[in-house]
Amino acid sequence: TLPQAEDHVDVLIVGAGPAGLMLANWLSRCDVKTRIVDKRGTKIFNGQADGLQCRTLEIFDSFDFADRAWRESNHMLEICLWNPDEQGRIRRSDRIPDTIPGISRFQQVVLHQGRIERFFLDSIKEHSDIVVERGVLPTAFEFDDAKADDFNEYPINVTVRTLSDEESTPQQQQQHHKSAKGEEITVSDGLYRSNLAADDTDDLIRAAETNSRVDQVESIKAKFLVGCDGAHSWVRRQLGFQLEGDSTDYIWGVLDIVPITDFPDIRQRCAIHSATAGSVMVIPRENKLVRLYIQLQTTEHAQAGGKADRSWITPEIILQSAQRILHPYKLDYSYCDWWTAYQIGQRVGNQFSLKERVFLAGDAVHTHSPKAGQGMNVSMQDTYNLGWKLAHVVKGYSDPSILKTYQSERKKIAQDLIAFDHRFSRLFSGRPAKDIMDEEGVSMEEFKSAFEKGNEFASGIAVNYGASLIVAKEGDPVTQGDGTIVAQDKTTRVVSKPQLVTKIDIGKRMPSFKVLNQSDARPWHLQELLKSNGRWRIIVFPGQLSLPTNMQRMQSLGAKLGAKDSFIRHYTPTPQPIDSVIEVLTVHAGPRADVELLDLPEAFHPYSETLGWDYWKVFVDDQSYHEGHGQAYANYGIDPVKGASVILRPDQYVSWVGEVDDYEEMEKFFAGFMKAQNLEKE
Ligand code: FAD
Repeated sequence: TLPQAEDHVDVLIVGAGPAGLMLANWLSRCDVKTRIVDKRGTKIFNGQADGLQCRTLEIFDSFDFADRAWRESNHMLEICLWNPDEQGRIRRSDRIPDTIPGISRFQQVVLHQGRIERFFLDSIKEHSDIVVERGVLPTAFEFDDAKADDFNEYPINVTVRTLSDEESTPQQQQQHHKSAKGEEITVSDGLYRSNLAADDTDDLIRAAETNSRVDQVESIKAKFLVGCDGAHSWVRRQLGFQLEGDSTDYIWGVLDIVPITDFPDIRQRCAIHSATAGSVMVIPRENKLVRLYIQLQTTEHAQAGGKADRSWITPEIILQSAQRILHPYKLDYSYCDWWTAYQIGQRVGNQFSLKERVFLAGDAVHTHSPKAGQGMNVSMQDTYNLGWKLAHVVKGYSDPSILKTYQSERKKIAQDLIAFDHRFSRLFSGRPAKDIMDEEGVSMEEFKSAFEKGNEFASGIAVNYGASLIVAKEGDPVTQGDGTIVAQDKTTRVVSKPQLVTKIDIGKRMPSFKVLNQSDARPWHLQELLKSNGRWRIIVFPGQLSLPTNMQRMQSLGAKLGAKDSFIRHYTPTPQPIDSVIEVLTVHAGPRADVELLDLPEAFHPYSETLGWDYWKVFVDDQSYHEGHGQAYANYGIDPVKGASVILRPDQYVSWVGEVDDYEEMEKFFAGFMKAQNLEKE
């Protein structure tokens, strides 16, 4: 069938799971022409991923919907470790905090994926006309190599077909079974979307080709295509890219129930190792639910060489495993919300991008076990990394070379994730050691220490991007396969001075402490000022402004930033507001009462004919009336006598650190990748 319609878009997203929705959400804030299609007729309503790490909540907050997740979710504060005692009976051996205290203003929470998708959909709607087109299946992909280097061109052509309702809504079988009390229970079969069920994309394509009810065949020409289409990724297959790694023999059973039990820690996150019956992870959830993750014994059921037979897996089998592990405590349920079983592959994509035109994100480039609640978080953080870069290239703010940093930054994270999962899986799944001589068993001390260390990685806060065009730090620029970073060479390399901010790491996300607004004394967490709206930020920490040298530096920097030929003007298209591409924020060291906003140069609180002065750019590290003292200078490791300046990327990661008034180095940094605007007028 010939396409009946044709469209041109900047970005086409395939797949509206967490990764695709995060990307659409970014692009909705940056005014980029975007379409997003998903083969399924509906979003998911229960089950699947549920853990939200603290970095993910920080990101949600930068999009203004963390409060929804925070309110609805279950908060996980403590982890209890249970192991067998000398008699082989399980007992609580340790309690550790779930989120490492002090690393974020948020802590890990759990809420099911369907709600999170809802928050994204609402946010996208509020900021744009983008709608998720459901029941729309891509059937063909063409890539015109000749157009790949011209970023005004549309090298991608994807044919999509609209499916009928029946096609896009797979039959989810109901299963009936009896609870331990003999009650009849009906549960949706969670296997229908599990990876133990065959992927149905090819069947859908075939059905769509012959289906007379197909509404429309359309050709979408795109500048960029992003495959967020999950572990079976159709986009990945079009590119011929592979996932590398192993499929493990582990099958995980997942049961979401309202538990009836005498186990004392059922409302804590628990890792329970029984002496001989295996291990279970308990995740207390919203709405009285509890999720149990159990590794099912597979050997007798595995098919030779391939995917395990799944017909034997039922909610009862999963429950019985849990009951054996929890013995002598009792466990049963009357209500089961969802269940599934899936086989774990620990794999990473060999390439994340085709010529920086087609990208893969989320489960399409990494798969691993669910225990540490990473899948959804890392998937969303992939496209959080990519979204602003695409927007800046589409809008012509930035050179396309920044797109290479997507693969160099995110492939490393995916590899770290798989390595972490390997280590953790072995420790979680192994039989506990009986004593020090039992070398085959897993030492529970080692498990605890791995859990504690793993928590930092799992929080997402530890992410530390390597040196590149957009991260000015020591170290060779990361090179990986063809994703070599175009970095500044030694002579032009931008120099950071990390010694000026001893507790901020270049390449990591900016930590947050409370500061007060200079003009109205209201306390803010610094991160609350860093909205995800696509802006670069220079945060000036001028130190104590009562010191004449510090005030002089502010005058000098303000004069340069505010000049007609400053780099900020250079990179901001007229007539857009002066803070719309690079925003300048100030945090001085106080006291607040010793400084008047209007004593500072205009560059630090821009003036507009219609809106007057901007009172939301200058802040102070001082005592608040009601919320204590954030001690921002001490916590960032900045000397209030000397001060420092920091450049932040639109995704809150630290790019550069230098002297307060080092205008020249800032200029050099931005010149590495930004594109001059208003050329015809200059
Ligand atoms: P997905 O959420 O898989 O989204 C992909 C989207 O693309 C889907 O909406 C799909 O319909 C669409 N799509 C796929 N192919 C096409 C195509 N050809 N054309 C158009 N659209 C397409 N993680 C945990 O942390 N804890 C868990 O307990 C957990 N349980 C899980 C249980 C199951 C059954 C599954 C499948 C996954 C589970 N995960 C779990 C993993 C977690 O859901 C994923 O890591 C996360 O959803 C990844 O997000 P994503 O956006 O990359 O992919």
